[in-house]
Amino acid sequence: MRFDIISVLPDLLVSPFAHSILQRAQKKGIAEIVVHNLRDYATNRQKSVDDYPYGGGSGMVMSIAPFASCIESLKEKREYDEVIFMSPDGETFNQTIANELSGKGNIMILCGHYKGIDQRIRDLFVTREISIGDYVLSGGELPAAVLVDAIVRLIPGVLNDETSALSDSFQGELLDAPVYTRPADWQGHKVPDVLLSGHEAKINEWRHEQALIRTQTRRPDLLED
Ligand code: SAH
Repeated sequence: MRFDIISVLPDLLVSPFAHSILQRAQKKGIAEIVVHNLRDYATNRQKSVDDYPYGGGSGMVMSIAPFASCIESLKEKREYDEVIFMSPDGETFNQTIANELSGKGNIMILCGHYKGIDQRIRDLFVTREISIGDYVLSGGELPAAVLVDAIVRLIPGVLNDETSALSDSFQGELLDAPVYTRPADWQGHKVPDVLLSGHEAKINEWRHEQALIRTQTRRPDLLED
C-alpha cells in the first residue's frame, strides 16, 4: 500500500513514520509512505503557497496552483483509490474507516494549514474529507500521521501477531480487556490469578467478561449499536 502525503511542513512527518510498527511496515515493503513538499510545486519567485482570502477576513488561504500541480504530477504516475483532505469538517475518523482504507492500494493525503485550502481544490481533486475529531489543529500533518498509523497497522503482515489487532478496542463491539505483565506481585498489587493459571479457556472467558464490563462502564453506546 502506498501513501503520498502533500504538506507544506514535511519535517513534521518524519518522526511519526520512522519508528516502531510504521518503520517496520516500510522496511518489509508492505507500506510505502512518501511525503511531498508543497513548496517544491510553487511557481512564483517567493515560493509562496498561500494568499489573502477573497472577501477579507483573518488567516491565509492555501492556493490552488501548487496543490493542483503536485496532485496532477502524482496522478500521472499512478491511479489513486482516494484523495483525502484532512479537515475538521470532514467525516469523523474511526476504526471502521481505518479497516476500509487498509484494503486500498494508493492513497493521497492533503494537509491544510492556516485558514484552510482554496475550496476549489476540495471540489476538483478531493474524493474524501476526514476529521480526526471535533477540535481544530494548526495543520493537517498530525491528523495525516494518525490516519496512516491507524491504517498501516491493519495491513496483513504488519503486526507480528495478527490476532493482536483483532482484539483491540473498536475492532469488534467490545473495548479491549485489561493487560498485565511481570512482576505478578508489585508491592502487594497482584495480577488476577486466572491469568497465571495457564488455563486458556478460563483466561479467554475472563478477558471477555472484563471487556464487557469495561464497555458497559466506559462506552455503553458501543453495545447499543
Ligand atoms: N478554518 C478551518 C480550520 C483550519 S485548521 C475550519 O474551521 O474548519 C488548518 C488545517 O489543519 C485544516 O485545513 C486541516 O487540514 C487541518 N486540521 C485541523 N484540525 C483538524 C482535524 N480535527 N482533523 C483533520 N484535520 C484537521
